[in-house]
Amino acid sequence: MTDLVVCGGGVIGLSIAYEAAKRCGWKVIVLEAKSVGSGSSWAGAGILPPGATVLPLDPIDQLRAASHAIFPQWVDELQSDSQIDVGFIRCGGIYLAKTIGELATLTANEVWWKEQGIAFERWNRDQVRAHAPALAWDSIKRAWYLPQECQIRNPWYLQALVKSCRKYGVEIHESEELLSIRPRDSRSIEDTYTVATSLGEIETRRACVTTGAWTRRVLQEFVPATQATEIFPMRGQMVLFRLPNRPCIPVINDGHRYLVPRADGLVLAGSCEEEMGFNNSTTQAMIDELRVWAIDLIPCLASATVVKTWSGLRPASVDGFPYLGRLTNFDNVFVAAGHYRHGIHFSPVTAKLMIEVMTGSKPSIPIEPFQLSRGHSYAS
Ligand SMILES: Cc1cc2nc3c(=O)[nH]c(=O)nc-3n(C[C@H](O)[C@H](O)[C@H](O)COP(=O)(O)OP(=O)(O)OC[C@H]3O[C@@H](n4cnc5c(N)ncnc54)[C@H](O)[C@@H]3O)c2cc1C
Repeated sequence: MTDLVVCGGGVIGLSIAYEAAKRCGWKVIVLEAKSVGSGSSWAGAGILPPGATVLPLDPIDQLRAASHAIFPQWVDELQSDSQIDVGFIRCGGIYLAKTIGELATLTANEVWWKEQGIAFERWNRDQVRAHAPALAWDSIKRAWYLPQECQIRNPWYLQALVKSCRKYGVEIHESEELLSIRPRDSRSIEDTYTVATSLGEIETRRACVTTGAWTRRVLQEFVPATQATEIFPMRGQMVLFRLPNRPCIPVINDGHRYLVPRADGLVLAGSCEEEMGFNNSTTQAMIDELRVWAIDLIPCLASATVVKTWSGLRPASVDGFPYLGRLTNFDNVFVAAGHYRHGIHFSPVTAKLMIEVMTGSKPSIPIEPFQLSRGHSYAS
């Protein structure tokens, strides 16, 4: 009898599996339809924007604050368990205002940053030049620097999660798809479940659905008579450049777009938000647009090699909140999905909260806003 079957081997499923095996000593199986991390998690940029240091009111800000605070210790443990460097650095983030509208928004953000206890500096041209000499200043009206912004290398982070999971005995089944979850014996007072997969059946005390952008489909098709989630795929495309040296240390944020300089000279340029269903391909038009935008900001990228381009399907929800909690009509089947643009950042806090929920402990931050029954309908 397995203690927990985690369905979906992205960053959320692997983090929950790691926490369950390490903290609770549970026997855990991760089911992944393709290969671990091959969904949105591999595709992400790994930006970890600063979290509040004063308890915020907004539920998403609460998740961000909690996850940002525990991230360094989470990384220390993971690196020590896996002996893999995950590329976590407190690199800071520069936020650019290029239009009057952006200037107004970022100036107003100062009030919000102050309220939340998030450190920031308003930078003039000389300060930007000193810290990011490669950045073209011409189109920029003003800049802000947030020193607590961090970054992580998601492919390395995923490798470290896999290795650490295995260290604590987690079985990871790749190319094995979840087909259904049903109560093992409805007459039994002990709630146990049969998880049917493309390769057989697993008996388990608990199951957790962590299938990212596929969660709405998975619950509709494979877990009958439960609450639907309003999760849908939101495509993001990415261009990876290689320079001989990194052009600057901080992440450059320009509206919804960003440049993430890695220590070894790789520079990620992203991204976009496209509603294309489950079509996960890149388009030449968007790749060209991202390339031109990136070169506009950092002109030396014009001579850089484009190493790779890709796209990923973010698990978006209608109200922007993830779904975290127990499934309706099941005592021990849970869901953790819909993290949209924050799944890498929120992975440690999601793992901790889900273990609290599964073990019946009081969640360390209120999770009511993330319950499945909150009822925001896509249709209405
Ligand atoms: C371009 C881009 C940039 C991003 N940048 C950032 C960032 O800077 N910071 C940040 O925090 N987040 C970022 N994100 C968001 C982040 O990547 C996601 O929120 C996160 O990866 C979601 O993780 P997940 O485990 O829920 O989903 P996924 O990683 O998609 O994992 C779900 C897994 O479930 C599997 N699956 C589906 N159906 C089944 C089934 N029936 N049986 C078994 N397995 C199944 C899939 O194959 C998949 O591997 C970005 C995303 C994209 C696309």
